[in-house]
Amino acid sequence: MIHPAFISRLRGVLPAHAVLVDREDVVPFESDGLSAYRNVPDVVVLPENEAQVVAVLQLCHAEQVAVVARGAGTGLAAGALPVDGAVLLVLAKLNRIKAIDPLARTAVVEPGVRNLAISEAAAPHDLYYAPDPSSQIACTLGGNVAENSGGVHCLKYGLTVHNVLRIRMVSIEGEIFEIGSGAPDAPGYDLLALCIGSEGLLGVVTEVTVKLVPKPELAQVVMASFDDVAQAGDAVAAIIAAGIIPAGLEMMDKPATAAVEPFVKAGYDLDAAAILLCESDGTPEEVAEEIARVRAVLTGCGARDLRVSQSEAERLRFWAGRKAAFPAVGRITPDYYCMDGTIPRKRLAEMLSAIAAMETKYGLSCANVFHAGDGNLHPLIMYDMSLPGDWEKAEAFGAEILELSVALGGSITGEHGVGIEKIKQMCVQYTTPELETFHAVKAAFDEKRLLNPEKAIPSLHRCAEYGRMHVHRGELKFPDLERF
Ligand SMILES: Cc1cc2nc3c(=O)[nH]c(=O)nc-3n(C[C@H](O)[C@H](O)[C@H](O)COP(=O)(O)OP(=O)(O)OC[C@H]3O[C@@H](n4cnc5c(N)ncnc54)[C@H](O)[C@@H]3O)c2cc1C
Repeated sequence: MIHPAFISRLRGVLPAHAVLVDREDVVPFESDGLSAYRNVPDVVVLPENEAQVVAVLQLCHAEQVAVVARGAGTGLAAGALPVDGAVLLVLAKLNRIKAIDPLARTAVVEPGVRNLAISEAAAPHDLYYAPDPSSQIACTLGGNVAENSGGVHCLKYGLTVHNVLRIRMVSIEGEIFEIGSGAPDAPGYDLLALCIGSEGLLGVVTEVTVKLVPKPELAQVVMASFDDVAQAGDAVAAIIAAGIIPAGLEMMDKPATAAVEPFVKAGYDLDAAAILLCESDGTPEEVAEEIARVRAVLTGCGARDLRVSQSEAERLRFWAGRKAAFPAVGRITPDYYCMDGTIPRKRLAEMLSAIAAMETKYGLSCANVFHAGDGNLHPLIMYDMSLPGDWEKAEAFGAEILELSVALGGSITGEHGVGIEKIKQMCVQYTTPELETFHAVKAAFDEKRLLNPEKAIPSLHRCAEYGRMHVHRGELKFPDLERF
């Protein structure tokens, strides 16, 4: 519980309307996109400029009050979940696009700018910002940086980390620092890569310089139908093995297309066990050549039907279905739980068979959508929060998928981050010495652990507790536990 005297001091550094404490004002911030986890914040602050962010952080540091940063709250790992006794620092009002430089092909934006707004602002220069999370209409650049977000186009154009040149952050002490530059590389440790994906644990992002890329002359999508999900999984590996790097390579299984088609009317083949969407972009000649190669590989892998988008409207319709897959599944089930493991592409088929067996084991259905080219899975486990025990089953189902991802040589997250959701699985992914290193990095930025506490990096106590039930890759050194 935050002390009323501290709220008064917050009101001393922010305008009155920027400090919310009344229940009806703060309840909307009780969760992010993973609504199974909820916690009503004591206080929400909405600064309107960097100086106000600095003032809030200085105050929190001086009084040892924790801070949780939040952008649009679309995160799917409970990363922006309010923590008891913490200030929820919402960056949504820092939403100015400060500069677009068509010659340098860069944009400078505040953290509350929506992802899609950058491409809209750059469009008159025939440029766009490549990382395109399906939530891009709402999610903010601050959240994208904190999660190292990805999207359909990241297979060819890279994740957030590959498309950001410089970030400006405020430390928990209220000190402003800049990392990166306009140049593609810099000497010394790569602190930019360290901070991108750090889930609000190292500092609060107040400005981001991103790269813009030219809009391709042409983009077309091949949609392939498969009668067997394993064949579709193998086709993904075969495309990459053939040396083709598509602009997007996504897969949806039958339950996913069945949910999406009535919602979006994308023209998906509802008889197929799985469909693949494979985009080529470039000059018309490059696209024609790549599509011919893609068709040959897909046919060789057993695709029974191939369609190529014949207009920009049709291409966008094919993608609209994939991008709306989460809300479409939300229409057919009271609740769904979106997972985010990553596995080596060649093991997609194995993972899909295992998920089918888990559906029977837990008695819950699962629709599968994938950033298949990246080996990034998004199983959508359907459950009903109002049924006693259903959420616990969904959570156990999800945990089993994540831990199998590690066993198959992959990772517990591809793009959604760890947050609270996957914190136990961090104990499976990493050894004790690796976690100790993460804690040391955290301490170098935030010694008192005030920024987004309890998220992303598990304490060794937590791992010890979890390790009693699960096999831990590393050897737990119990005498060391008191240090964290
Ligand atoms: C329908 C749907 C589809 C999605 N599709 C994708 C997808 O394709 N790819 C993908 O990667 N993700 C996807 N997501 C997840 C989510 O949109 C991303 O993680 C996004 O980057 C979160 O941005 P946000 O502004 O909503 O951040 P929030 O949810 O508000 O916060 C996310 C994390 O960032 C931290 N944070 C936020 N702002 C700052 C800041 N200024 N400084 C420091 N830390 C900060 C928070 O503390 C938290 O840990 C999807 C979500 C939904 C609901």
